[in-house]
Amino acid sequence: MPVEAFVENREPLPWYQELQAKLVHLKITEGLAHSLLVGGPAGIGKVHLAKSLAFALLCRQKGAVACGHCSSCRLVLAGSHSDLRWVHPEDSQQIRIDQIRQLVSWANQTSQQGGLKVAILEPAERMNLAAANALLKILEEPASDTFFILVSAMPMGLLATIRSRCQQVPTLRPEQDQALLWLNEVLPDTDEGELHTALHLAAGSPLSAYHFLLEGRSRIQVEMLELLIQLINGRVNPVKAAAQALDKTHPLDIYDLLYWLFSEALRHYLYDSARPRLSRALEESIAAFVQVFSVKQLLLMNDQVISARRLLTGTGNPNLLQLLESLLILLFEEAHKPAAATLVE
Ligand SMILES: [Zn+2]
Repeated sequence: MPVEAFVENREPLPWYQELQAKLVHLKITEGLAHSLLVGGPAGIGKVHLAKSLAFALLCRQKGAVACGHCSSCRLVLAGSHSDLRWVHPEDSQQIRIDQIRQLVSWANQTSQQGGLKVAILEPAERMNLAAANALLKILEEPASDTFFILVSAMPMGLLATIRSRCQQVPTLRPEQDQALLWLNEVLPDTDEGELHTALHLAAGSPLSAYHFLLEGRSRIQVEMLELLIQLINGRVNPVKAAAQALDKTHPLDIYDLLYWLFSEALRHYLYDSARPRLSRALEESIAAFVQVFSVKQLLLMNDQVISARRLLTGTGNPNLLQLLESLLILLFEEAHKPAAATLVE
């Protein structure tokens, strides 16, 4: 199923059904602020929630979920509802001042369909200062029929004055079982082990896992894990492994995977019994790391991963191959130190 089918879906994601029902009820009892800030981790469906909520607020039936049949719903489905606005970075990385000016002018007009007007801004932290200040003016004096839904994975990146104008709508990751159930529903042909793997590599964020699987990155990560195991078992040398890894995937993905592996291995030492269920590929990789490395080594290598990642995302222009080679050489050397795997080394 194409991703648009979810993005445009009128129904909230299963883990937000209750939250959306509460928000719609608040609107009916006039307890809903005119500016909402939907904040929470990336990849859990905040934009979807903003859209399904906007859809429900515009629906003539005034239910917790948009009916999909009334005149308003039909316009939303056709993408031509004049009282619904979606503001997001267009050709640049930022939401620009002219986009907000257009929004202000739209907000000052009366509703064309005779109902509410709803605008979604996402990601809200991408507004530049001029845009944020222009928005602040309409948030300060909202029209009684207009609602603004700001969505942000980094709410602290917004102006404090904007945050304080908004009713906070914090969102959480769904439970693992619920996320897996949903993934299984939307990707029925994908193997369950693969769903587990993708969900874990996406730190429990189901929509991130969904994109991960769609783009085939999950399979690449499993291949990367196999390569790392070969490296620590001495079946491939670090220089060759670095070249192979960079051939397969983006360097940031490699460092993220390593960071995740070291963190999971450390967690294994600390909270052996409390670990969640993982796919077999992940279990085996973590077990191999735990068997070979001590806590001290894991911490040392994790520091190196963090430094390398910082170099990659900084303004410099590091040699990607050299950077990864030196990290994998360290990994190889640490793995082949005698009697490495002791907790208190
Ligand atoms: Zn409707």
